[in-house]
Amino acid sequence: MRTQMTRRDFVRWMGMGAAGWAAAGRTRDMRLRAAEKPVRKPNFIIIFCDDMGYGDLGCYGHPTIRTPNIDRMAAEGQKWTDFYVGASVCTPSRAALLTGRLPIRSGMCSDVRRVLFPNSAGGLPAGEVTIAEGLKPQGYATGCIGKWHLGHLPQYLPTNNGFDSYFGVPYSNDMDRVAGEGRQAFFDPKVEYWNVPLLRDEQIIERPADQNTLTKRYTEEAVRFIERNKERPFFLYLAHTMVHVPLFVSDAFRGQSPRGLYGDAVEEIDWSVGQVLGALRREGLAENTFVVFTSDNGPWLEYDQHGGSAGLLREGKGCTCEGGMREPCLFWWPGTIQPAVVHDLGTTMDLLPTILRLAGAEVPADRVLDGFDLRPVLSGRGHSPRDTVFYYRGVRLYAVRKGPYKAHFITQSAYGKDQPVAHDPPLLYHLGNDPSEKFNVAKAHPDVIAAIRQEVERHRTTLVPGEDQLAKVIKKG
Ligand code: MG
Repeated sequence: MRTQMTRRDFVRWMGMGAAGWAAAGRTRDMRLRAAEKPVRKPNFIIIFCDDMGYGDLGCYGHPTIRTPNIDRMAAEGQKWTDFYVGASVCTPSRAALLTGRLPIRSGMCSDVRRVLFPNSAGGLPAGEVTIAEGLKPQGYATGCIGKWHLGHLPQYLPTNNGFDSYFGVPYSNDMDRVAGEGRQAFFDPKVEYWNVPLLRDEQIIERPADQNTLTKRYTEEAVRFIERNKERPFFLYLAHTMVHVPLFVSDAFRGQSPRGLYGDAVEEIDWSVGQVLGALRREGLAENTFVVFTSDNGPWLEYDQHGGSAGLLREGKGCTCEGGMREPCLFWWPGTIQPAVVHDLGTTMDLLPTILRLAGAEVPADRVLDGFDLRPVLSGRGHSPRDTVFYYRGVRLYAVRKGPYKAHFITQSAYGKDQPVAHDPPLLYHLGNDPSEKFNVAKAHPDVIAAIRQEVERHRTTLVPGEDQLAKVIKKG
């Protein structure tokens, strides 16, 4: 640091007079104090919904579901139109989000069972590095609230995967069914039909969980987490149980939406987003917190009006068509993220490298990551480095997107009993002018298909499938 006045300083001082010099000195002092103060690392919040479709939010075009808080988040931040998840069902999608890797690599997908169940013996392998584990060495407080679904046995719970605390339901809210008549149970759901546990850290504190108040209680926990950790950097993973069937809402939201119970449940999540962003503003943390809002997979269409909508996208949950894996996605960080509607490609797997780099943390270098650093897009200074999306169903690659084109090598209905159908040449759609995947243009573009085949070859050379975690079942006796 320079301590002596140079000749040039002296001349300037003479020119500006003593008052001006004093003002310049104050400015310089302020700068120095800013430089001395350690730069506070950003906070991160991922709000992850369950089974919400591409068309279920006001800002994505839903005509009757009211989402003013989420719409404001979109207007103040970035709304992505081409953002994907790592799988079309819960467990593998969540594994992809938290590890930045396709679930085929961690073994968190299977052709035996599509997700984990209450009698599952497997879970996220200890060798995987979650976002929370990546942030811990940087001094982050880490909290997980909501649906986990990456293994309910103690060794697989959030508290053994980098999170300091956990509050939530460890798997899907339609599991542990003990009463109710067939599908009708979902269309007139009662809390007592599903004996799902509510956990705090590793202990069951309520069973069956009162699902009516889950969204409300998750939100209250989230606000408390923010308030409790406002003096240090934090990472909050808030994974809502809603809007997965059976749908439940608290009293204040029941019967309010023209879209029925599904709309009520989305509108309560919208309220929740307002509470979380409101807490950040109130605590003066908004300009130092990166918030992501998205969902794990598309709408569960076979539940009629209790399932959501993929808008103009084809199919929904369980399927490798766009409706199963393209999701609403918003990024919010006032003053840092350049507000925009973004058409670049992104996936939930990009969050791990993006977040870890924003935190100044190491990105795991000893394994294949499927995520890309999205910082250039967030700052508005560049484009997404991502050019391809791989659509897996179980352990098999069904489709690949490259740029605007998507090739389906295998197709199968979401939940039907039909067998997979292989296509050679693959079905080819241009998602720019045909987002609903209606018009096969394979014949006209053999060059595009050849380029996509090359991407598949390259991808396959990096694949070492993990041990199937979803096929493992707890042995009785
Ligand atoms: Mg889901």
